[in-house]
Amino acid sequence: MSTTADVVIVGAGVVGLALADSWLARHPGDSVILVDKESELGMHASGRNSGVLHAGFYYAPDSLKAKLTRDGNRLLKEFCSERNVPVRETGKVVVTTSGNQLPALEQLFQRGQANGVKLEKIDEAQLFELEPLARTHERALWSPTTAVADPVKVVQALAQRVVERGGVLRLGASVVGIESRKVLLSDSETISFGHLINAAGLYADTIAHWCGVGLEYKMLPFKGLYWYGNWEPGRLQRHVYPVPDPRNPFLGTHVTVTVDGRAKVGPTAIPSLWREDYGGVANFSAAEMARIIRLYPGFISSKQHNVWNLMKTELPKYSRKKLLAEAARLVPTVNSQDFHQKGRPGVRAQLIHVPTGRLEMDFVVHQGDCSTHLLNAVSPAWTSSLAVADYVVTGIEAERQSR
Ligand SMILES: Cc1cc2nc3c(=O)[nH]c(=O)nc-3n(C[C@H](O)[C@H](O)[C@H](O)COP(=O)(O)OP(=O)(O)OC[C@H]3O[C@@H](n4cnc5c(N)ncnc54)[C@H](O)[C@@H]3O)c2cc1C
Repeated sequence: MSTTADVVIVGAGVVGLALADSWLARHPGDSVILVDKESELGMHASGRNSGVLHAGFYYAPDSLKAKLTRDGNRLLKEFCSERNVPVRETGKVVVTTSGNQLPALEQLFQRGQANGVKLEKIDEAQLFELEPLARTHERALWSPTTAVADPVKVVQALAQRVVERGGVLRLGASVVGIESRKVLLSDSETISFGHLINAAGLYADTIAHWCGVGLEYKMLPFKGLYWYGNWEPGRLQRHVYPVPDPRNPFLGTHVTVTVDGRAKVGPTAIPSLWREDYGGVANFSAAEMARIIRLYPGFISSKQHNVWNLMKTELPKYSRKKLLAEAARLVPTVNSQDFHQKGRPGVRAQLIHVPTGRLEMDFVVHQGDCSTHLLNAVSPAWTSSLAVADYVVTGIEAERQSR
């Protein structure tokens, strides 16, 4: 069978859905088909994340992440309010685990200022007022706009709006090839497209390579494990984060509150041996494992990251006790008796620039011939999704006009 669409989007995660939503809002008469290999929504990162609506203060001021997270936070809150998706306005505190981290805390504050994000410096007494369970050395930061929602509910509500706008969700079919403006699906269907948008998350590099785009990039996935606490809902009121190492694209182990008030520790940033390495041997691929292992020498020898520190701090977190001991440096009452219910793990679609061994820190958007590719849709792309979509659709429109 063969079909035609103005726009085909590969991947119906939050980013693919936001792109369809934005496209249809601006081009209401167009046909848009979203293809996803899973028969349910939210099976990968978009349904397996912390659900934290980030404020946007971590990122370099000239980055896409800085601008699109600040705007995305606002847009996602507006969307949730329109669709009655609950958002818990927890705010977030960033605490230090030693006095040595005070200069890095100050730098983070300066980034927040440069990014136009509301952020306050607080002392230990103010921290106690905001979150009595958290500890810091002398100073901490308070981010009032950080919040939390249920990531699966957001994805489902967004899918509903896409369908209401006339988008078609084609679930349970993998894109297995792309040839002269046609996508080939696993069930032998073909869809001819005017424009293709690749939002395939962990497989975005593969799809881009089929279009001859982003050949210098490959996926180097990192796994995030979580543990839930048995505390009564509301005992922890704010997200509590450490000061991150700015050389690595991860935020460090944190203690967050879910939208229904539960406390949760994680995620780790442990090397993943295959892309959908969520536990056990499900979705195991020897070819993927071999390909990923071959990327490590380049990554380890790269001078751009603190790789040994990352391995030294992350690998021990395979042990629940070690992970919780790390979290207890931020919230001393966290302990291994209370936190033993495993959360749904997620895998980050982290891109590595193969020639330099550099982990990409920003979102990467590449244009091909009648195609656009969202590579490195890592955190906080869930928060930023609606702003990312506006940015990408504007770019496609500009590119079409210049032809
Ligand atoms: C552990 C963890 C914690 C995180 N915490 C946060 C957070 O608190 N806040 C935040 O803002 N962000 C967070 N993120 C990041 C956020 O989850 C992602 O940036 C976001 O979900 C990316 O969305 P996506 O649509 O690109 O990817 P995905 O949700 O992975 O969607 C991609 C889709 O493409 C489909 N697909 C892949 N290949 C094919 C193919 N060949 N054919 C058809 N379909 C295909 C997949 O089935 C999948 O549904 C976290 C991520 C992780 C892993």
